[in-house]
Amino acid sequence: MAGEPQADCLFCKIVAGDVPATLVHETETTVAFRDINPQAPTHVLVIPRAHYADAAALAGADPAVAADIVRAAGLVAEQEGATDSGYRIVFNTGAGAGQTVFHAHAHVLAGRGLNWPPG
Ligand code: 5GP
Ligand code: ZN
Repeated sequence: MAGEPQADCLFCKIVAGDVPATLVHETETTVAFRDINPQAPTHVLVIPRAHYADAAALAGADPAVAADIVRAAGLVAEQEGATDSGYRIVFNTGAGAGQTVFHAHAHVLAGRGLNWPPG
C-alpha cells in the first residue's frame, strides 16, 4: 500500500531505528538526520516517515507531508544557523538526476558558498 514501510529500503530502516543515524530534528511525519557523506558543513536529509519513492510521488499522494518536509528543512536550517547566510533544499528525483535512495528526501545544504547552477 502507498506509504507503507519497505523491507529493503535504507531510509525506512532509519525511520524504524534499525539503521543508526544522527537525528537532528523529528516531527510526527518527518525525520531529519546528517548525511553520511556530507557535501557541505551542514548536510542534512529530511525524509517523510512514510515510504514514497521520490518527492513527486509524495506530493501527489500526501501534499501536506510534502509541505511538512519543506517546513522541517527550514527549521533545520535555522537550527544550524543558516537562515541569514542562506541554504539550499534539493530533491534529486530519478537516477539521471543523482537519486540513489528511492525514499523521498530533501537535502539541506549550508555553511559554504553554493554556486548556481549546481552542475
Ligand atoms: P540521493 O543521491 O538519493 O539524492 O541522496 C542519498 C543520500 O543518502 C546521499 O547523499 C548519501 O550520502 C546518503 N546516504 C546513503 N546511505 C546513508 C546512510 O546509511 N546513512 C546516512 N545518514 N546517509 C546515507
Ligand atoms: Zn522507505
